[in-house]
Amino acid sequence: MQYHTLNREELVGALHTADTGLDLSEAGQRLEHYGPNEIERKKRKNYLKEYFVQFTHFFAVLLELAAVLSFLADLYSPGEGYDVLGYAIFGAVVVNATFAFWQEYKADRTVDALLKLIPSLVKVRRGGEIAKVDARLLVPGDILIVEEGDRIGADAVILEANSLYVNIATLTGESRPVRRFPGADRSETILDAKNVLFAGTTVESGNGVAAVFGTGRNTEFGKIASLAKEVKKRLTPMQTEIIRITRILTVAALLVGGVFFLLGFFSGQGFLIAAIFALSLIVANVPEGMLPTITLSLSLASQNMARRNALIKNLDSVQTLGSATVICTDKTGTITRNEMTLKEIYLAGGETISITGEGYDQDGEFVFAGERSGADERLHFFLLAGMLNCRATIEENGVFGDPTELSIIAAARKGRIENNGYAKLQEFPFTSERKMMSTSYEKGGETFIFSKGALEVLLPLSDYFVDDAGRVMPFDESNRARLVARAEDLERKAYRVLAVAYGRGEEERGFIMLGLVAIMDLPRSEVFDAIATCRRAGIRVLMLTGDNPLTAEAIARTIGLQVDLVLTGDETRRMPDEKLEDLLKHQNVLFARMRSEQKLRIASLLQRNGEVVAMTGDGVNDAPALRKADIGISMGTKGTEVAKEAADMILLDDNFASIVAAIEEGRTVYFNIKKFVTYILSSNIPEIVPYILQFFLRIPLPLSVIQILSIDLGSDLLPGLALGSEAPEEDIMDRPPVGKNERILDWEVFKRGYFFLGAIEGAAAMVAFLGFLFLSGWQYGDLSVTGTTLHRQAMTMTLLGAVSCQLFNVWTLRSWDHSSFQRGAFTNRLLIIAIAIEILWVYALLNVQAVQVIFNTAHVPAQYLWILLPFPILLFLSHELYKYLRRPKMVKSEF
Ligand code: ATP
Repeated sequence: MQYHTLNREELVGALHTADTGLDLSEAGQRLEHYGPNEIERKKRKNYLKEYFVQFTHFFAVLLELAAVLSFLADLYSPGEGYDVLGYAIFGAVVVNATFAFWQEYKADRTVDALLKLIPSLVKVRRGGEIAKVDARLLVPGDILIVEEGDRIGADAVILEANSLYVNIATLTGESRPVRRFPGADRSETILDAKNVLFAGTTVESGNGVAAVFGTGRNTEFGKIASLAKEVKKRLTPMQTEIIRITRILTVAALLVGGVFFLLGFFSGQGFLIAAIFALSLIVANVPEGMLPTITLSLSLASQNMARRNALIKNLDSVQTLGSATVICTDKTGTITRNEMTLKEIYLAGGETISITGEGYDQDGEFVFAGERSGADERLHFFLLAGMLNCRATIEENGVFGDPTELSIIAAARKGRIENNGYAKLQEFPFTSERKMMSTSYEKGGETFIFSKGALEVLLPLSDYFVDDAGRVMPFDESNRARLVARAEDLERKAYRVLAVAYGRGEEERGFIMLGLVAIMDLPRSEVFDAIATCRRAGIRVLMLTGDNPLTAEAIARTIGLQVDLVLTGDETRRMPDEKLEDLLKHQNVLFARMRSEQKLRIASLLQRNGEVVAMTGDGVNDAPALRKADIGISMGTKGTEVAKEAADMILLDDNFASIVAAIEEGRTVYFNIKKFVTYILSSNIPEIVPYILQFFLRIPLPLSVIQILSIDLGSDLLPGLALGSEAPEEDIMDRPPVGKNERILDWEVFKRGYFFLGAIEGAAAMVAFLGFLFLSGWQYGDLSVTGTTLHRQAMTMTLLGAVSCQLFNVWTLRSWDHSSFQRGAFTNRLLIIAIAIEILWVYALLNVQAVQVIFNTAHVPAQYLWILLPFPILLFLSHELYKYLRRPKMVKSEF
């Protein structure tokens, strides 16, 4: 059916609905009949294919090659256990691939699940009442109410519209907003119809009411979306970093392997033995468990952030957050509570009236500061003018709309104001750009227009004012100055001030000024601490607000924000880029009366200064700035759908403090990844050293390849993960942000991993091996022990040398720069579990026969185990000392 060609009555009839909307049971039945209003937008991943891809990664191919070589070696010299090694290596490939796949799958799922949490609510009229429902519950026949910033949830024909402009770029590519009107449209194709709202498009400005006729896949958007191909994914910086790390380590592994292959081959070992030897070294060097551990750490961090009310849309932003150097935040709702209370009215005649009561409570008194005579009637009309010009509503089942307006309505209710006989004609909506709104009414054959907005906007539009005798008088300079002075006075006390005026006719000019309202919006209590934290953490906070400069500055000072300079939107616009860039470099600027478009410029200039910018926004016009910023942050409750879509992170509670919490998590995960990469690298040395020594010395093989795998994939993995989930360090917010170009795998990680901790572990492994052999009466150069129990016991000692050091290593690496004694013993549950499992593992290696057979180990009598003791202790204490000596060199926050 061509719904857009129908007039209002026909349409309502055809959809079997009414102006009051569907009743609830009917809506339920239709939902069952039509199904939920959703489109499967992304093609489902082929998980089987993804799983097999894991076997084609470079690491996997290397190991597969090693397995094949082992089987070849078994053919060449059977009975030496090369076949077992082949199976073991192949088993390692399967375990690793499955694990990596599982992590990716889980990360996918986590992000999906988090995205589902983002509320996508639409306003509908059902059973005569306005309700906010999940967009997926929309059904044909629903009466949809839309306003600026909404993403339209379904295809609908317009019944009423107030200066309604929509952006239908997603459907037609037309980027300019187009106006929409009610009334039948004769267009042949629905896309040309001017009375239709389409799913997936957005409301640029104005508001309207529309009847839904198409949902889910029956919408125009659904038809296109099912054809659309999945967009190709771009590599995120974190992925690039992971690829870089693995490349470096792989190249190192290949180099070492290559050198030893050549040495072996030319010293007459034969091709196969030399190749196996080289491959063992490569296996020892390749950190098989690293990739999945990093992914898991990031996804754990994003879950922690979600718990702290910050939803991350892509995992990568977790790390970017750690580098944030500037937060550009708006004021209303983020810094303040957005719970407005109208505290004072200043009538244009000069009377001040305070109003008692908090929030949207309807109990409160009007207290006159001085003479009251004759002001009651003016106050009454003032409140009526305010009330009639609000879109927000206070209803039994909740409050709807803009808190500024709710505070005005609450005040009108306190004054028992009622609409006696005003019939609404037209609305001239509020936009942040206009900073005012008006509504026209008809009463007794006359037309009135009521207006409210920023004083500087309404002042030039007002020609008259109501004086203290209730007369309409020309608005002369002295009275204008009096009003401005009064407004500034209130603004300095952090009040949000709006002027209220009215006029005759339907034009937004020639107004008669009625007076001012002073509205209080208290700062959120958590913001004080959050601002102080940012200061310590070397993160600058710039406030960019649409509100008045004086109010904004007063709030900024209350919460302890440093303000060196206040600039208004107009002043900013006139300033050349170079000047503004310079100011931004050296001063904490507060931007007031800003337009959304200007945020984009500020973000770009800050970035030119080398800053990593986190920027908040909630309106449609904020979207470009949110995209431009390194971390775009949108509000979960106040944010428009468009802003949420453009953002990297969504604040569920709209709270500034949650941004700071997310930054803390971002920094934490950065250091945690450093910690476990170091941890994993450390155990590479005791895996490599035995091979190198065996090449130069006449000793039996100290560690077999399968034992290497047992360290990499067995005993290292869980403790590594546990390090990835360490809680933030106490001073994590007392240091400067992580540099944008700082790498996780930097020289410090290499130094500590390979040359310090690893070196101790290498020594531990070899001392354990040789010490045990000598104490058991072995003579240097005697290779005949190879394959005997004594040899297996000695190899077990090498393995234990490495594992015992790793046990202490994980503990000392819990903190990157501080004493690990400061970390509570039981604060990381995963670590306790990991250590318990590791101890069980050691027990099994020593005592359980099935395990011994697979891993080539044997029971070692307790009297030899003391050889192991000194090294873990040495490792622990020397790393603690290292951190202690390095500490003074750490750069302190310069703020
Ligand atoms: P922020 O940008 O920090 O969220 P804000 O909420 O004050 O601050 P806007 O919503 O853009 O920014 O409001 C700008 C100005 O418009 C306000 O200072 C006020 O003077 C005026 N204003 C706000 N809401 C209304 C409204 N509902 N009707 C008329 N004027 C309004």
